[in-house]
Amino acid sequence: MKKYVAAIDQGTTSTRFMIFDHSGIVIAVNQKEHQQIFPKPGWVEHDPLEIWARTQEVMIGALHESGIQPADIAAIGVTNQRETTVVWDKSTGKPVYNAIVWQDTRTDILCNELAKDGGQDRLREKTGLPLATYFSGPKIKWILDNVDGARVKAEKGELAFGNIDSWIIWNLTGAHFTDVTNASRTLLMNLHTLDWDTDILNLLNIPRAILPEIRSSSEIYGAAKIILEGVPVAGDLGDQQAALFGQTCFSAGEAKNTYGTGCFMLMNMGEIPVPSKSGLLTTLGYKIGNQKAVYALEGSIAVTGSLVQWLRDNLGIIEKSSDVETLAQTVEDSGGIYFVPAFSGLFAPYWKSDARGAIVGMTRYVNKGHIARAALEATAYQTCEVLDAMEADSGVKLTTLKVDGGMVFNELLMQFQSDILDVPVVRPKVAETTALGAAYAAGLAVGFWKNYDELRVNWGVDKQWIPKMSSNQREGLYSGWKKAVTRTFDWVE
Ligand code: ADP
Repeated sequence: MKKYVAAIDQGTTSTRFMIFDHSGIVIAVNQKEHQQIFPKPGWVEHDPLEIWARTQEVMIGALHESGIQPADIAAIGVTNQRETTVVWDKSTGKPVYNAIVWQDTRTDILCNELAKDGGQDRLREKTGLPLATYFSGPKIKWILDNVDGARVKAEKGELAFGNIDSWIIWNLTGAHFTDVTNASRTLLMNLHTLDWDTDILNLLNIPRAILPEIRSSSEIYGAAKIILEGVPVAGDLGDQQAALFGQTCFSAGEAKNTYGTGCFMLMNMGEIPVPSKSGLLTTLGYKIGNQKAVYALEGSIAVTGSLVQWLRDNLGIIEKSSDVETLAQTVEDSGGIYFVPAFSGLFAPYWKSDARGAIVGMTRYVNKGHIARAALEATAYQTCEVLDAMEADSGVKLTTLKVDGGMVFNELLMQFQSDILDVPVVRPKVAETTALGAAYAAGLAVGFWKNYDELRVNWGVDKQWIPKMSSNQREGLYSGWKKAVTRTFDWVE
């Protein structure tokens, strides 16, 4: 009897390899950051070869430190930063260009052009998504249009496109697959048929030959060829969907919010793709083997934890991300300022690629403590706007918010989040729900776990924050935020 299931969690800032036991407890973990490449304002790239190298290193590292043998591992799940786009040469295995990261705004002119005919929501009925720089389709077109020789090779079927899940699965097993959740973030998949949409492929001039085959989120895609040789790779979910799964949100109306580089709230909507009228995305939640697909509503926020990294790397006012809490605690409040981090435009619920970041309300009184505090509060305010949209679209009033991700160890932020939402915030015992969700999908595929009930019992509360703020104060702060957001609109052409 094999004792463990493993997960590769390839995130925006780092890659983790985690090994879980049957009760969902982390037995081993190894993590490495990779380089963020900013060639121009608004452009964000990663080196896919570096990502694959880090992936192998963390796999070897976790196995080495824990002494766990490949033979003890029942299956491997993969979860990934979504939308980030890699195009590689099938014969050499070399990318033709760096990975264009989900936050990258270089396709804004293309998206605006496409929106002229039929508006920003012209593809929403089919894909659940607005036309925005966020998604993979326009990024693929950019690579084919701008990299010498790429389009000719693509037409001949010599290139492969993948999000990071496909890139890793291809390197690990040799198979060119993706799952429905990742495919639902490309702007190229029809939500209703779960297949690539020919009309949209024609519109964006993307040859079908480069696309991976769309599979379920939980089935055996192939066996690992290296490091964990012979172990089935059996789970594939975009990171936010993996967190939904890891938080065991298996029933319609259950939701989670993940606080990482960006912030992503997803609510399980059952077997129907519910359209959004409030600026959310309709997306795939998961599909387990031959079972029906489960859909979700999603509120995506581009910049939350990455604003903390920006305070660290660009301003140098903190040494490591967690120091932001100590710095924010040196002041009582934000000193009257709001920090709207529209660095990649604004995602949900606004979808404005022409917005850019602003700090408003500045006076000479303001110091770095206030900046740190305003940066943290920005995450909470943005989440509040997404929750309002979620409640409007779903008709579900959340009684608690399940949270996870790197920022949820920030107590100041979690208390402020609960205050500004006026809803209790709950952190589970295993906060690594992204990797856990991918492990669950892989484990279900090979029978390591039998059903959802076995997974639900693994979920337990670690900490809860209860709202303490008066409604007057809350409403005053929140309306100030909404005013601040309008100051970022219409900034770039
Ligand atoms: P991802 O999976 O998107 O790479 P993680 O869930 O690992 O992200 O979270 C990392 C992010 O969380 C980073 O952007 C980092 O700046 C931020 N972060 C980590 N710890 C803290 C903290 N204590 N307070 C605020 N932000 C934090």
